[in-house]
Amino acid sequence: MQINIFLFHRINPLRDPLWDPIDPGQFEQQIKFIQKNYSIVQLESYLDQAKKVKSKKPLASIVFDDGYKDFMDHALPVLQRYRIPSSMYVVTNCADQMDLIWTYQLDFLFQNTKRRRIQIDSEERGCQKITWTTDEEKMIFAKALKPRLKKIKNTERENICDQIFKQLNDIEIPKNLYMDWDELREISREGVTIGSHTSSHAMLGNIDSEELIFSELKESADKIHQELGYFPKTISYPIGSYSPKVKKIAEQVGYKYGLAVNQEKFKSKKHDLFEIPRMELYNENILKTYLRTTNIWKTVSAMRS
Ligand SMILES: [Zn+2]
Repeated sequence: MQINIFLFHRINPLRDPLWDPIDPGQFEQQIKFIQKNYSIVQLESYLDQAKKVKSKKPLASIVFDDGYKDFMDHALPVLQRYRIPSSMYVVTNCADQMDLIWTYQLDFLFQNTKRRRIQIDSEERGCQKITWTTDEEKMIFAKALKPRLKKIKNTERENICDQIFKQLNDIEIPKNLYMDWDELREISREGVTIGSHTSSHAMLGNIDSEELIFSELKESADKIHQELGYFPKTISYPIGSYSPKVKKIAEQVGYKYGLAVNQEKFKSKKHDLFEIPRMELYNENILKTYLRTTNIWKTVSAMRS
């Protein structure tokens, strides 16, 4: 049996040119589309079952990363209306309201800062001194920076981000973006399964230190255990970043499943339980969503580029 695991992040009517959430209306259309074409099952329950699920339609699961509070306002009501089970993978420092996910913080600061220049002390190419004269130039820089930061070692990425956060300090960072533990308990009672997305949204595949990988995986699991009363079965690797070392440590810590991000189906016999693929969906209409879910969109995009 195969299962298609659809990954969502933010569901929000706010538009964001650097990282666009899915509009709630669009999300409802996507959920209706998935429900019509697939049998939707709760991911962890499906993976736990030794026996096969009988279904005429292909199977699908709905999962969310990051734990943004807009899940409660815009996603959960739709999921409840259509009786759809789901899982949410949370960044425990964010649920503690101690931290923002660094990619979000970068996007927010670059979009709102009135500063015209930053200077970064780093060996990384193209990350030193940047001056921009127009907002357009600033956004071009911001768009190019994030993919570059995702490729470098975690320690250097933290160094660069810290310098940027200190210099773009003319902006008040939004508070209460993430569900806190009371809210996570509430959605858990509503049937949403909670798993870990690490303590700090670290890109685990870019970390050399085994101790640091261990603490990101173990401390987040222990925190969920302490707050929600169960040890999470699943680790969702932030930004889909993992390595053989990460998978081994995740298993040692006590997780049963590790979720990657790539556009494949999970084939239970072939796939490794610590690199289960997921397909991310975006703020796109049903035609594009259909093409993406059937993997045609990848081919169309490749032909166009
Ligand atoms: Zn994430």
